[in-house]
Amino acid sequence: MAIRIPKQSGTAFLLKKGDNLKIIDPLGEQVSDMVLFNAQDKRESISSGKTFDFEESILLTTGNTLWSNRSNKMMSIVEDTNGRNDFLLAPCSPETFKIMYDNPAYHPSCFENLYSSLKHFGLLPDDIPTAFNIFMNVEVYPNGKLRVKAPLSKAGDHILFEAKMDLIVGLTACSAEDSNNGTFKPIDYQIFQGSQHPKQG
Ligand SMILES: [Zn+2]
Repeated sequence: MAIRIPKQSGTAFLLKKGDNLKIIDPLGEQVSDMVLFNAQDKRESISSGKTFDFEESILLTTGNTLWSNRSNKMMSIVEDTNGRNDFLLAPCSPETFKIMYDNPAYHPSCFENLYSSLKHFGLLPDDIPTAFNIFMNVEVYPNGKLRVKAPLSKAGDHILFEAKMDLIVGLTACSAEDSNNGTFKPIDYQIFQGSQHPKQG
């Protein structure tokens, strides 16, 4: 049974080594930010730099591994029906909406949703690393310019991970207009213990 993360919110949970985590975009065009910490030592966290280094790519999909700041494997990507994810941009934060959207009013953000959920595990706002942004579609142009485009994910698209160590996982349904083609939708996730996940053909 999948668990639903309501629109513009987040959650945090434990995942055991060998467990599988399936993240589903139930309605389409919705990004989910994911951060990872070693459950035994929270100073070890997911690292975009180490992942780009070892995977020799900024586009990560089936067959790729997500690495930690200590150069250990945290998760592997087992399935990815959409195939487009981002690992360049930091979670949207209150400042994102002030600086990029010229919006001085309160606005929900992945950063707030991540640190609010992760504080139950003793993590602080400054502990939040660059997230692996599932279903996020960031185009990189030859001159180095970046553009956030509408996600390519369709309703029901999913990504399946396998945990390579015991993990604390922070996960959101992203709150930024530009990342989600102007609308906010939920994200579903499902945990499969051990090797019980239904491998697709
Ligand atoms: Zn966000």
